[in-house]
Amino acid sequence: MEFMEQRILRDGQVRPGNILKVDSFLNHQIDCRLLDEAGKAFYEKFRDRGITKILTVEASGIAIACLTARYFDVPVVFAKKSKSLNLDGDLYTSVVHSFTHNVDNTVVLSKKFLTDKDKVLLVDDFLANGKAMEGLIDICGQAGAQIAGIGIAIEKGFQCGGQRLRDAGYDVFSLAIVDAMTDDGQITFRH
Ligand code: 5GP
Repeated sequence: MEFMEQRILRDGQVRPGNILKVDSFLNHQIDCRLLDEAGKAFYEKFRDRGITKILTVEASGIAIACLTARYFDVPVVFAKKSKSLNLDGDLYTSVVHSFTHNVDNTVVLSKKFLTDKDKVLLVDDFLANGKAMEGLIDICGQAGAQIAGIGIAIEKGFQCGGQRLRDAGYDVFSLAIVDAMTDDGQITFRH
């Protein structure tokens, strides 16, 4: 069994509303050794794509993005959640619906950190309905940056994001794909 699946089975908790709680190792307390292993797996998959930047969204994708970037030896850029409007034109902006908080966030990214010369790897801790990824794809479109692939720690395969992104032609690589979760804590993975 793969390392991310093992860790989910050991420390993940199923919560109502299709939420998998992994805050003891992924997005509150962080196991850097595990995320380093994730970064290495993304590197092995995407090393030949000429990636110039790792792109994620604030906040929970930042840690995994940083450990991934160490392998690629490129910078991390993260879209920031912001309430301010793009008044001076030096920002890309997109609206992302948050699955966990059920609100729309405007995310912004400074134009100086993403251009049409970039080839990016998008990464995040979770892929659910794909809204966070769609926001990043929108920003890459505004920048003219190429998307070389998408690396996800945990994909919830019973939600539509993964299928939508793959149908659109993106190379989505998830370290664990949860196919089903029950309220009594049973988790089934896709292989
Ligand atoms: P999406 O945009 O694909 O619908 O949802 C992905 C985002 O929502 C991720 O950035 C992640 O932070 C959050 N998320 C979605 N599902 C879960 C979940 O089951 N558990 C946790 N902890 N976060 C999730």
